[in-house]
Amino acid sequence: MSNPRVRLRFAPSPTGGLHMGGVRTALFSYLFAKKHGGDFVLRIEDTDQTRYVKGAEEYIINSLKWCGIEPNEGVGFGDGPYAPYRQSERKELGIYKKYADKLIESGHAYYAFDTAEELDEMRKRLEAAKVVAPQYNAVSRQNMRNATTLSEDEVKKLLAEGTPYVVRLKVPRNEEIRFHDIIRGWVVVNSSQVDDKVLLKSDGMPTYHLAHIVDDIEMKISHAVRGEEWLPSAPAHILIYRYLGLEEQMPKLAHLPLILKPDGNGKLSKRDKSGIPMFPLNWFDERTNESYVGYREHGFFPEAFINMLAMLGWNAGNNQEIYSKEELINLFSFERVNKAGAKFDPEKTKWFNQQYLRKKSDEELAELFMPVLKEHNITVDKKFAIGFCKLIKEKAHFVNEFWNLGSFFFIAPTTYDNEVLKKRLNPQTLSYVKEVKTAFNAIQNFTALETEQAFKAVSEKLTIPTGQVMQLFRVAITGVGGGPALFEMLELFGKEDSLKRLDNAIAYFEKQG
Ligand code: GLU
Repeated sequence: MSNPRVRLRFAPSPTGGLHMGGVRTALFSYLFAKKHGGDFVLRIEDTDQTRYVKGAEEYIINSLKWCGIEPNEGVGFGDGPYAPYRQSERKELGIYKKYADKLIESGHAYYAFDTAEELDEMRKRLEAAKVVAPQYNAVSRQNMRNATTLSEDEVKKLLAEGTPYVVRLKVPRNEEIRFHDIIRGWVVVNSSQVDDKVLLKSDGMPTYHLAHIVDDIEMKISHAVRGEEWLPSAPAHILIYRYLGLEEQMPKLAHLPLILKPDGNGKLSKRDKSGIPMFPLNWFDERTNESYVGYREHGFFPEAFINMLAMLGWNAGNNQEIYSKEELINLFSFERVNKAGAKFDPEKTKWFNQQYLRKKSDEELAELFMPVLKEHNITVDKKFAIGFCKLIKEKAHFVNEFWNLGSFFFIAPTTYDNEVLKKRLNPQTLSYVKEVKTAFNAIQNFTALETEQAFKAVSEKLTIPTGQVMQLFRVAITGVGGGPALFEMLELFGKEDSLKRLDNAIAYFEKQG
């Protein structure tokens, strides 16, 4: 039996910005943990000092916070009963060495003293012998400098002299390794495909393979969820659990499908050019001088982002696509995660944000939009801003598009779409616009309904179909040919402003004649 209490961990390595695939791994683990009233732990796997990137850990923490996928235990989240949660600090506890020693004692791991040159020669030798995947294994280890080929005394001597060594897992030559994955079912691999993985490096640091197992055991993790790229390593991990006599405590495994490029050809790249971010927050890679825009900065709502991520590889078995976090928690299961890769769809991603935009109240949107107005030195009363949001949100995917889509709400036009004027402006339509102005002047209660009726009455009076003048009239009011519902806008602008806009337009139109 694995651990009765549901405890899942997200265990990123701080080697760069956390991309959206990593966020999805965290999300699925979080949803499952919450669904079962369990724990969600953040562990930082920083044993590879050569790949350590400054700022990456903070980025991971901030990303999880922004997404609302908050661990209840771990680095940046107040620690917990299994502290510390950084592997570099856990090394000081001596636990990794203890487990490695146990494997050495039982004959399932061994010291290897090969230098980088010797390893290189081995690879060349195997390549020359046309070995398809050259690796350090049950066969090749026999020609190397390690505790399986050297005498006990020689090994002792080398160790006493301080010769650099690694500890390797002793993988048997031809054995079937079977394990169960919640998403994939039973997986069977022959041990000849598994190499003698390094468990402890020459700097004394454990590798990922050893460290995550020790920590999953020590932290009483019940389910280990990770990306599909780790599936090939899983057989070696199974052997480690087995050799430690810990198979019973082994977490259940779930390897998540890849996120694929929009065309389905290969893994989604962090350099994807669809215009939709690949990272939750802005990320600057100091090593390559590349910057990446984040979902947050692009204008996505975190709820939309995680909803979209949840649908990348999971479904509840129906056509519903919009789920609150609470609904996801209630419905989530690994059994309903697809085995096949999930195609990333940039348009759909925007669509998710649009759905959440439309769900927000106009008051909330106005609150979000106010800072933009301030940037443009515009002061309007709250009611106007709310009315604006109500009309403009139908046209947008993001709040940050509001200004470009509707700046004419706040600044009356001084230029007018020339294409529309060329097509629609003539003495007849000009007289229509003038008539409308007169009719508007007479309206007491300047509502959308009243203005629309007045507009139609003029059409009847002059026997000019509304279709011939509608777009020109819109241009007169806004300067541009498209936009939100026209008469609703007029109601929001009010009589005085609407008439002023018409005056300006008429003066401009007359000059065109
Ligand atoms: N540190 C590994 C990574 O960043 C974690 C893999 C796992 O969850 O076991 O991918």
